[in-house]
Amino acid sequence: MRVVSSKPEVSIVIPVYNEEAGLANLFGRLYPAMDKLDLPYEVIFVNDGSRDGSVSILAEQYRKRPDVTRVVLFNGNYGQHMAILAGFEQTRGEIVITLDADLQNPPEEVHKLIEKMREGYDYVGSIRRKRQDSAWRTIASKAMNRLRERITNIHITDQGNMLRAYGRNVIDLVNQCGEVNTFVPALTYKFARRPTEIVVEHEERAAGESKYSLYSLIRLNFDLMTGFSLVPLQMFSLLGMTMSLLSALLVLTLLVRRLIFGAEADGVFTLFAVAFFFMGVILFGIGLVGEYVGRIYQQVRARPRYVVAAVLQGLPDEQLDAEGEKRKVVR
Ligand code: UDP
Ligand code: MG
Repeated sequence: MRVVSSKPEVSIVIPVYNEEAGLANLFGRLYPAMDKLDLPYEVIFVNDGSRDGSVSILAEQYRKRPDVTRVVLFNGNYGQHMAILAGFEQTRGEIVITLDADLQNPPEEVHKLIEKMREGYDYVGSIRRKRQDSAWRTIASKAMNRLRERITNIHITDQGNMLRAYGRNVIDLVNQCGEVNTFVPALTYKFARRPTEIVVEHEERAAGESKYSLYSLIRLNFDLMTGFSLVPLQMFSLLGMTMSLLSALLVLTLLVRRLIFGAEADGVFTLFAVAFFFMGVILFGIGLVGEYVGRIYQQVRARPRYVVAAVLQGLPDEQLDAEGEKRKVVR
């Protein structure tokens, strides 16, 4: 049996939500790929309130490889990014790597990230060489990517890709954040001192189906845009100012015409059109402001961000340290 080191060098964090169909495959590729690297590692699975058999499959895997496996169980579904943050809090490695559970990020690519990190970077993002998702997802995601690139000062080429490596310094800072709605690759980017990117492979989902509906994708993009930029809000105040200036001019023109030509009933419908247009603008503006207010609300409530129902792990850290020392001596 491999010697358990008290301090893993690499921590892998994997969020799991209803992935029973693909977990066996994941284990079958991830563990051999990691064992091959011959370095102390740990894999932390965070079960994001799965309603299928994922929990028992994870527990079974924990029993098989307790030396390198830990499982965090949420009491409900808090979303992929919250799951990753909970995983971060459990990590002990100097390098922390995130991965999807559906094998879209091939575990065999992990070593590339580690090698890059060893060159002295503290954030290694990755770009999918050929994205294996539906056409509409790819196109929509490219558009959001471009928009985010413009309105935030976060530079990520392929924001939707979760196969990324972070340094301990970045993770420690993220662990201090009390963010409720967030987007992990952007948050980590904020704290990275030396970020870089590499190109990796991408595969089709091995089993099951995407856990993101159109609705949750839109929510996620709102989290990203509003969480890291005030530009949308500022755009609306600018737009609002220009609009009110223009409509003041319009009212003035109409007033002058009224004085010169008398009542013009024919113009009524143009006016309606204009009024409705403004109503639309106002409503959307209110909605957008609401996005921020909602977030402020959640933040000031300062509720626990999630409730961890249980953590399946070996010994507590101090004991593990002592154990590790003993084993080293035995070896
Ligand atoms: N996931 C999660 N909670 C959720 C949705 C997804 O933990 O509410 C996990 C999911 O199990 C997977 C990863 O996040 O490991 C990415 O999800 P998915 O593959 O469905 O997203 P897509 O590849 O379609 O963007
Ligand atoms: Mg996927």
